[in-house]
Amino acid sequence: MRIKCPYCGERSLDEFAYYGDATVTRPNLDAPDAMDQFTAYVYERTNPAGPHRELWYHAAGCHAWLVVTRDTTNHKISTVELARDVALQRASGTKGDA
Ligand SMILES: [Zn+2]
Repeated sequence: MRIKCPYCGERSLDEFAYYGDATVTRPNLDAPDAMDQFTAYVYERTNPAGPHRELWYHAAGCHAWLVVTRDTTNHKISTVELARDVALQRASGTKGDA
């Protein structure tokens, strides 16, 4: 598998580190059910068959954090975005990210 880093171009998977599901967001500590939310955040994950948004780190390259949309059934990558841009879009509410 190869990932096209926005800064470095297409690179081998060996240069990247996988950091998990990019669709989850850290719960609010002040919520009345914060403990339940944190339990779900840490331990309860889906195992989707099909397109999935994942967090990757270009460890042996530019050190960029990336959100990669990859089909888990065939490993085809449809999009690679800078995690910073995804976070800014999420914060501004311009992009639904679930
Ligand atoms: Zn890079």
